[in-house]
Amino acid sequence: RAKGEGGGRHCAYEPQLHAQAEERRQLELALREALEKDQLHVLYQPVVDVAEERIVGFEALVRWTHPEMGPISPVRFIPVAEEARLIGPIGEWVLRTACQEAAGWPDDVRIAVNVSAEQLAHPSFVAAVVSALAQSGLDAHRLELEVTESVFMTDDAGALKVLDQLLALGIQLSLDDFGTGYSSLGYLSRTRFNTIKIDRSFVVGASRNTAESLAIIRAVVTLADSLGMVTTAEGVETQAELEMVRRLGCKKVQGYYFGRPMLGGDAVRLFPMPTQRAIG
Ligand code: C2E
Ligand code: MG
Ligand code: MG
Ligand code: MG
Repeated sequence: RAKGEGGGRHCAYEPQLHAQAEERRQLELALREALEKDQLHVLYQPVVDVAEERIVGFEALVRWTHPEMGPISPVRFIPVAEEARLIGPIGEWVLRTACQEAAGWPDDVRIAVNVSAEQLAHPSFVAAVVSALAQSGLDAHRLELEVTESVFMTDDAGALKVLDQLLALGIQLSLDDFGTGYSSLGYLSRTRFNTIKIDRSFVVGASRNTAESLAIIRAVVTLADSLGMVTTAEGVETQAELEMVRRLGCKKVQGYYFGRPMLGGDAVRLFPMPTQRAIG
């Protein structure tokens, strides 16, 4: 290309950008089809109470297996779904599926469902949640919705209002991936989150005895305590990490150490059998 055209560097990167956009478009088309053809499913990962070492809930995590491309990580396809306005229908499907599954669990076991900022901002979101509860028969207090700090980015007043409506329904709220986004402590005082989920990156750091990570977990636990919230440590993989987050005061843990995301049929087998009742 002639120098006179200018922006030679820009031109060199263009084909790559183009390829990325093209890949995204392909993924979007495939995702639309996946939704219609039942290629999505939900896995459930146990959440364990640290003191009792008892399962107190599961987090619903969406999975997509494409017939040719194979399994595609939500880390890859959720952002595409968000951009393509597909997160609404996908999220609602996950919510309905998860509530249905959890309705068959013991009363003291919760189901946590991830909610994207785009979903929360949609005017019919609260109605969709109410409908999922009604259809499944799941009690509102057994549903926990996980949001990240990104919900406050575009319209924080709107987000706070919706979160208040969800709380009024008796639903639990968790602040996911805490410490990785644009943390603003102000939101913690304005929304009564029940749980703060401490991102796995801090757990990993702290288990390598990184002073900064240890200090951050300790500070988050103290903050949560004083605000009447509890903390969940994400991504606990080893006994050593479990002992560490226990020592630091995390109330709940989630991670491969206690269980990987699993099929609903396997999750239900983890519950103790209902106590036998004497038959007269
Ligand atoms: P997240 O909500 O923070 O979920 C936790 C992620 O950590 C999950 O990844 C889980 O499989 C992984 N994980 C759990 N324990 C361990 C561990 O011990 N070690 C390691 N290395 N990883 C662990 P996954 O399932 O790939 O999901 C990634 C993210 O995708 C989620 O992060 C969430 O932000 C998003 N996502 C998943 N399902 C949904 C959904 O239904 N709706 C929305 N909006 N987002 C979802
Ligand atoms: Mg989550
Ligand atoms: Mg998380
Ligand atoms: Mg995460």
